[in-house]
Amino acid sequence: MPRDRIVLACGECKRRNYDLTKNKRTHPERVEYRKYCRFCNKHTMHKETR
Ligand SMILES: [Zn+2]
Repeated sequence: MPRDRIVLACGECKRRNYDLTKNKRTHPERVEYRKYCRFCNKHTMHKETR
């Protein structure tokens, strides 16, 4: 199955903290994950960006 590279950006400071892959066939929508932001020094919502 092809995996597509996406980038997750912090919802608060907008910095791009995470590179990962997802299968766009099974997750065509933009994903959001609660992850640790080292700039905000806390967990924030991280949204898929391109
Ligand atoms: Zn942040």
